[in-house]
Amino acid sequence: MTPIQPTAARPPPLASTGSTAYIGLGANLGDAPAALRSAVQAIAALPATRVLRWSALYRSAPVDAAGPDYHNAVVAVQTALTPHGLLAALQAIEAAAGRERPYRNAPRTLDLDILLFGGQVLDTPALTVPHPRLRERAFVLLPLAEIAPEHVHPAWLAAVQDQHIERLPAAWCEAV
Ligand code: ATP
Ligand code: MG
Ligand code: MG
Repeated sequence: MTPIQPTAARPPPLASTGSTAYIGLGANLGDAPAALRSAVQAIAALPATRVLRWSALYRSAPVDAAGPDYHNAVVAVQTALTPHGLLAALQAIEAAAGRERPYRNAPRTLDLDILLFGGQVLDTPALTVPHPRLRERAFVLLPLAEIAPEHVHPAWLAAVQDQHIERLPAAWCEAV
């Protein structure tokens, strides 16, 4: 009788465990919708990470800055990366998209911010979670409320209702 062979070691399941994180995407240089679409593909290709949902695309005027209109969206991911591991991976995606930081709030080819990471509260030199300016920004709150209404208090939405922002109805992101 043939002895039963041990099962070959399998790679761990792809982010079947880990944390749900929400990432804010923004761009206002070049083809911003294309940059955001490529960013979602790059996020989906990260190790131990899968994209769960994404919001519609929003267009808004820059806040506290000059330059072209922004396009923004929010994606939900399931990831087994650590918060700092995810931040490093997102910064690599920004760099590959040509992100430069000549000054604060400068126009950008791609900005990827961690809005929420599980229920974690972090305040380290490199990473603050929840994102410290999350509640101030319609371009974050509206797309986040679309895919995770349980994380957005109605009073926060009321407080940003004067900010000019437009939800773009056209599909912008393929299934990932
Ligand atoms: P804002 O943070 O106001 O949206 P920004 O996105 O333009 O501004 P960046 O230049 O992209 O700012 O990032 C500046 C620094 O913010 C980064 O070097 C990063 O270490 C830090 N940072 C702190 N918390 C976060 C977070 N939750 N997500 C992304 N970056 C963060
Ligand atoms: Mg930002
Ligand atoms: Mg940023």
